Amino acid sequence: MSARAGFDALQGDAEFLVGSSRVLTMDTDGRTLDGYVHVDRGRIARIVERDATADDPSLADLTRVELDERPLMPGFVDPHVHLEMTSSAMWGTVDCRTPPCASIADMLDALSQSRHLRDARGGWLVGQGGLFADRRFSDQRLPTRDDLDTVSTAHPIAVRFGAHITVLNGVGLERLVEQLERLPSPTGDAHLRVDDNDRYSGVIQELFYALPIPELSTDELTEAMLTTARGYLLEQGVTSIGEITDTMQGVSILSGETGAGRLPLGVRAYVWAPGTASMRSSWDHAHDGEHAALANDRFDVAGVKIFVDGGFSAAGAAVLRPYRGTSGWFGRLAYDKDELTEIIRGCRERDLQVAAHVNGEWAQRLMCEAAIAAEAADAGNALPVRLEHAGNLVTSEETIDWWQRAGVSLVPQAGFVWTLGSFIPDYLGDYARAGLFPFESLRQRGVEFGPSSDVAGAELRQFNPLFGVQCATTRESCIGEILDPGEALSVMDGLRAHTRHAANALGVGDDRGSIEVGKRADLVALDIDPRGVDATKIADVSVAGVLKEGLPVTT
Ligand SMILES: [Zn+2]
Repeated sequence: MSARAGFDALQGDAEFLVGSSRVLTMDTDGRTLDGYVHVDRGRIARIVERDATADDPSLADLTRVELDERPLMPGFVDPHVHLEMTSSAMWGTVDCRTPPCASIADMLDALSQSRHLRDARGGWLVGQGGLFADRRFSDQRLPTRDDLDTVSTAHPIAVRFGAHITVLNGVGLERLVEQLERLPSPTGDAHLRVDDNDRYSGVIQELFYALPIPELSTDELTEAMLTTARGYLLEQGVTSIGEITDTMQGVSILSGETGAGRLPLGVRAYVWAPGTASMRSSWDHAHDGEHAALANDRFDVAGVKIFVDGGFSAAGAAVLRPYRGTSGWFGRLAYDKDELTEIIRGCRERDLQVAAHVNGEWAQRLMCEAAIAAEAADAGNALPVRLEHAGNLVTSEETIDWWQRAGVSLVPQAGFVWTLGSFIPDYLGDYARAGLFPFESLRQRGVEFGPSSDVAGAELRQFNPLFGVQCATTRESCIGEILDPGEALSVMDGLRAHTRHAANALGVGDDRGSIEVGKRADLVALDIDPRGVDATKIADVSVAGVLKEGLPVTT
């Protein structure tokens, strides 16, 4: 990040003015102005039109940072991201994504050139590829053990493609098979694929956890998380996140680093149940003070995250019509309505918000029914249930009615236009095409949604909120298809969704997400105005400077 915004000169100033001819407040009226934001001890004290400053003596002595025509915005908010998971996935791994790797041959080259990284991962050479590599490599397939054996037949190799699929070389397969003899037999979708000759192909599903690759030490994980948070979040103007937790170790690192001031990022944790901790133990910790002990001015445990259904590509998302080519498969639900009602009720009693992974509209509907049932038994102000991924696919008007009746909060992913947009109809059927990311229709109906990146290691460019804005604006997928252009958001609406509405989804809308008096001075200066660039270049607009609670962030 450059110092061009001049924020670096502020070190030490508790009170100052930031001036721009394009202050994009994202307030209720969507006001933009030519003027100054008066910051006082980390909060926004006043917002003053440029003309009005001349005859206001109280402002005369204050330090001024002049951005000129560079826009000044509230910091971006990412309500659902996997910072720990991404950081540990990137530690000591070879980048096998597309780009930079256009083909399997490119990927093998990258692995060969990075053999030294083996030392960081206990002898394993680990690669991280992207989602849908079988569609994005020019080979139109995943690599096999034989491909990876051209890099090494002596040392184990594992290349992950997204969170679910991994490809191993021959030695890696041997190590996995040995390991599986010792572990309890895997459940769910976990398996080793076989090829036409009935031989393990090297592709494994949901079994990465079973590989004997050493875990990161606390110091390594801390360094990895700080590097990712600074390099990918703060650098790109994200000042608050909702972290979907991975391990309790990661939770305590986030609490410690934010509390000690080494990580100038607002973090609300959603504890994944049961992956990070069981629901029961999250409930206990809400009571016994464990959660309170972790909290500081920038960190708290906001709630729990549960998986109600699965993903589209594995036919796990619980949808309203049978999957393409099946005679009645609608996906998989992990809970029934009564179980969900109990979870929502138990969480509300402990002031924990429920964030539910509900890719499909059937799962969303079930969650809404449960929220309504739980509400009936509640009194007072209940935290809204969050529907993660709702708004990415809407094929039925009734879905929107259910959301509204249940008063849920919606967290779609604009970046999925790019990664998933063209592929969802392949799994579901052509009917799904008309329901993809209907953001403009939702906006016109007054249905608010707060988009998130949901980065979990595979698609790093999704960390950039301006990439989300670009996807919402261009609606271009990774294979160059433009999804229904009538559903494109304006740039301004895309920016508002990734700030104001995302802050509401994260439950911090009264404190962050817009430039309004009393809110935290989380401010971002952009190099140029994204409203004035070609829509396909919005993600290239760079951040010229970031203030977190009035303090300049250096990355
Ligand atoms: Zn996620």
